[in-house]
Amino acid sequence: MSRVYNFSAGPAVLPEEVLREAAEEMLDYKGTGESVMEMSHRSKEFEAIIQEAEKDFRELLGLPDDFKVLFLQGGASQQFAMIPMNFMKNKKAAYIVTGQWAKKAYKEAQIFGEAVAVASSEDKTFSYIPDCSDLDIPEDADYLYICENNTIYGTKFKELPNAKGHRLISDVSSCFLSEPMDIDKYSMFYGGAQKNIGPAGVVIAAIREDMITEDCLPGTPTMLKYKTHADADSLYNTPPCYGIYICGKVFKWIKSMGGLSAMKEHNEKKAAILYDFLDSSDMFKGTVEKGSRSLMNVPFVTGDDELNAKFISEAKAAGFINLKGHRSVGGMRASIYNAMPMEGVTKLVEFMDKFEKENK
Ligand SMILES: *Cc1c(COP(=O)(O)O)cnc(C)c1O
Repeated sequence: MSRVYNFSAGPAVLPEEVLREAAEEMLDYKGTGESVMEMSHRSKEFEAIIQEAEKDFRELLGLPDDFKVLFLQGGASQQFAMIPMNFMKNKKAAYIVTGQWAKKAYKEAQIFGEAVAVASSEDKTFSYIPDCSDLDIPEDADYLYICENNTIYGTKFKELPNAKGHRLISDVSSCFLSEPMDIDKYSMFYGGAQKNIGPAGVVIAAIREDMITEDCLPGTPTMLKYKTHADADSLYNTPPCYGIYICGKVFKWIKSMGGLSAMKEHNEKKAAILYDFLDSSDMFKGTVEKGSRSLMNVPFVTGDDELNAKFISEAKAAGFINLKGHRSVGGMRASIYNAMPMEGVTKLVEFMDKFEKENK
């Protein structure tokens, strides 16, 4: 068996310890004689799994009791519709457009009401986070929406926008549990699990309880009301059981690593190795303004498409996979989520250095 260094943006690398544990429990989960994949979602064993996962998730974030935690499906993309259907009571909401995912959410919201783009960084191909300290947010906007870490362009809000009393809703898919969060500032945050906290198929949403009501836009299907899932503790219908079980293991792993502050420190050190190299290299260049750099997704280019392709293919042969940039931007992107070990990044940088010398 040989493992590679996987720089995929998602589905992405998971902690090896988690995969090993899951493998050990695959055929016989804790003496039940069955796999978690085969288990009733109404069984006491699964109930314990989902409750423990929620407890650890809350503990990691220091989530207060007035937040409801929901395990959902449909990907982060389904939230683009669920959010306006559930919360656009005045049929108006403000969006900060800092990349493709934010733009998709903004476009989806236009189906349901007036979505107002109050800031954007599209003028410079989303290579920075705009100043959001004094935005012109419509008085009657139901919420302000952001995508906190832009997976494709590699930018991150270092400071949350000044929401001026509006509810802040954040897509944290690609920075989920990568660092502590200032929970008081949010009304809702959510993310697809497959970037940083588990396998594809699970979305975790944390929502202030007082926002979850029957009062949704007319025609909202039962399955798309947060209330449906909140009332049933995420067991209204069959949840993505196996995915939730793996997420639970990842939460335990993060705890064993020292929690979110330790995770942040680890991620900062890891990202610095790569950014320092990019800043000193004559061949490879980062594409993001320094003040907006993501700790999770690091896009870079050589300035030459052929050289990019050569690099990606030689890197793959050397055991560094999925370094190709998103199909919409080209170049390269190294996603270095929580589970990417320090060694993965130091070895990648050594490889890049060698490639630069050989291809001068
Ligand atoms: C990947 C991603 C999405 C889309 O996730 P799906 O689960 O594929 O719908 C949305 N937002 C962000 C920030 C992402 O990185």
